[in-house]
Amino acid sequence: MSLPKKHPCPVCGWPALAEPPRSPSGGGSYEICPCCGFQFGVSDDDAGISPAEWRRRWIAGGMKWASLSRTAPARWSATRQLRRAKLPGLSQS
Ligand SMILES: [Zn+2]
Repeated sequence: MSLPKKHPCPVCGWPALAEPPRSPSGGGSYEICPCCGFQFGVSDDDAGISPAEWRRRWIAGGMKWASLSRTAPARWSATRQLRRAKLPGLSQS
């Protein structure tokens, strides 16, 4: 039995996007990250907000789980997720 491949979110480090955020040709997936709410190909291409900027705002806003239809995994920790994904933006404390 093989599980479908999952993809990490470049904004928040959520490890389980269903599709790659960008196709090899560069188009966005239009998938919305359930964790940070970034929509690939829309938040960046249409709204002009870079993943780094979205991450900065998400962290500043308290790193809240974004999806209203999916609940966060039990014992989910945004801080741990960012650290594990080695994404910048967290203060060192
Ligand atoms: Zn995300």
